Amino acid sequence: MKTWDGWDLPFLDESHKELIQRLQSWIELDERDEARVEALSLRDQCAHYRKQFAELGLLDLVVPSPTDPSNRLDVRSICLAREALSYRNAMADFVLSMQGIGTAAIWLFGTDRQKGRYLAPCREGRTTPAIAITEPDGGSDVAATRTTAEKRGDRYVINGAKSWISNGGIADHYIVFARTGEADGARGISAFLIDADTPGLRTGPNMDIIAPHPLSELFFEDLEVSASQLLGKPGEGFKVAMATLDIFRTSVGAAAVGLGRRAIGETIARMQGRQLFGKPMAELDLVRTRVADMVTDLDTAALTVYRAAWLKDIRDGSFTPEVAMAKLVGTEAGQRILDSAVQLFGAAGLRTGSVIERMFREIRPMRIYEGASEVQRLIIGRRALATSKTH
Ligand SMILES: Cc1cc2nc3c(=O)[nH]c(=O)nc-3n(C[C@H](O)[C@H](O)[C@H](O)COP(=O)(O)OP(=O)(O)OC[C@H]3O[C@@H](n4cnc5c(N)ncnc54)[C@H](O)[C@@H]3O)c2cc1C
Repeated sequence: MKTWDGWDLPFLDESHKELIQRLQSWIELDERDEARVEALSLRDQCAHYRKQFAELGLLDLVVPSPTDPSNRLDVRSICLAREALSYRNAMADFVLSMQGIGTAAIWLFGTDRQKGRYLAPCREGRTTPAIAITEPDGGSDVAATRTTAEKRGDRYVINGAKSWISNGGIADHYIVFARTGEADGARGISAFLIDADTPGLRTGPNMDIIAPHPLSELFFEDLEVSASQLLGKPGEGFKVAMATLDIFRTSVGAAAVGLGRRAIGETIARMQGRQLFGKPMAELDLVRTRVADMVTDLDTAALTVYRAAWLKDIRDGSFTPEVAMAKLVGTEAGQRILDSAVQLFGAAGLRTGSVIERMFREIRPMRIYEGASEVQRLIIGRRALATSKTH
């Protein structure tokens, strides 16, 4: 089957072509190592990819250097990397994306001391970050955060719980959102940088889901943290969380495009090789129309994703609705493509351990995390109805 390659899109430039070649080399490397790495524990698989990406310089794509005056990331490069990695291996994609999502708030809002202490170790793959927004009572309504951080002198005392936290239990630091009460709702939340070994922080066992993922609950029991560990100003937590999502949501759409693209490649190869009703499946009209829908979905998703990434990289201003569209269109298209792939493979698409079955499980969480599809629709609809801009 043809391997992953880049897109011939006006949103990409020469620097992206060089990155595409580097990513293709990684795909070959991973193919060689696959069986050995899959036999490792979740924690060790993550450590393997972190080390490998640090050596290959890929972590530079998701964690800017503390000494880089531009203090920014190229979202198109993040999208290309996530697409290539998830095409090959969703765990690898998870590791790369988490090094970025768990550090964005630091380079966006951190003090020089915080940047100096936390960014370089993450960029060099020596430490693992995490971001803890979701609570047991709900993740979609971030403004309703219940975990509290009570100010006592120059310290805060944190109590509460977080749920479904990626890298929970293996992270070295957590970016934690807690209610500090400057105002009701979204304006009364602050972000804190909390080291994993801080007394009062406990993590639960791994929360096993449809596709393997390091995930756990976090419990805060009178955890004391210095006010110098605030990220941004008191009451700015919601802004900190949304700024992180505004960079990384587009790349969730890209990871879904990677899964969809692989599924289409696998499906076409099978349709060309398998005989049904006396001819190759590829010659059956209903198969052709289904594949046509898959390919059209994929192209639409890629255009939406790379447009949002390009806007974020090139233009000034806020592109939250376009970012929401990238996540919505990418992940919903990816899910439809995977469902069609299973259907066209027949029972073989359901076989435990097959590529299609594995990707069918891997795509599903993407429509929920970093804002469920309904949340993306709310963002898009709210902005469309509030603006006079015609579409
Ligand atoms: C693999 C994975 C990794 C994750 N990693 C992290 C992490 O690192 N950090 C973190 O903080 N969280 C993480 N999460 C949690 C994730 O962000 C939440 O699951 C997500 O935000 C949805 O919150 P919830 O599950 O509490 O669902 P709820 O908020 O209870 O919502 C349930 C469902 O209701 C629907 N819905 C939501 N809003 C509306 C609306 N306004 N109108 C109609 N329907 C609506 C959606 O379909 C949604 O799925 C992760 C989750 C998964 C599955």
